[in-house]
Amino acid sequence: MTDSRRGLILINTGPGKGKTTAALGTALRAVGNGMRVLMLQFLKGSWHYGELDAAKAFGDNFVLKQMGRGFVKVGGAETDPEDVRMVEAAWAEAREAILSGEWDLVVLDEINYAISYGMLDPAVVAETLRQRPEMVHVILTGRNAHPTLVELADTVTEMREVKHAYQKGILAQRGIEY
Ligand code: ATP
Ligand code: MG
Repeated sequence: MTDSRRGLILINTGPGKGKTTAALGTALRAVGNGMRVLMLQFLKGSWHYGELDAAKAFGDNFVLKQMGRGFVKVGGAETDPEDVRMVEAAWAEAREAILSGEWDLVVLDEINYAISYGMLDPAVVAETLRQRPEMVHVILTGRNAHPTLVELADTVTEMREVKHAYQKGILAQRGIEY
């Protein structure tokens, strides 16, 4: 064990519910410690999530941005170039934020989906993570985390689905799903 303070790479992945909300919980914890948090949500954009308003209560210390438009069609010719363009823009902003050292924690929400859909190169993401300032923490969320990033990460949690209300036909609930 070492007691030195250092930035960590965390991944919340797997098919069960709780990847984004666990990242939000960590963000809340960090903000409470006086740290500055930036959360960039890849692909998301069509739903209005409660956390968008909750983050505003923390002003410049917790900035949360949706960088997509939701409902992404993927796979070969199905992939809309507009969605690829939005992922590229999100990544450009994420990269700059990580390297700037202005943020203590950067959350790249749903980035694993963008990578597994072939919209973003995991090697490029890994390279930036390796170059980041020493104290910057980064959390990546989304199913199917790429092995390259799992290898690089310090803490990886796989959410396992035991059951989900959706399977009983219960639709997304306000305050729980959005
Ligand atoms: P949350 O945002 O609730 O933490 P998540 O980040 O783990 O969920 P995502 O893959 O990002 O999950 O999917 C987001 C949406 O899909 C949420 O509304 C969530 O409740 C729902 N969801 C997550 N896991 C499941 C599942 N196993 N079955 C059905 N719906 C799910
Ligand atoms: Mg999520």
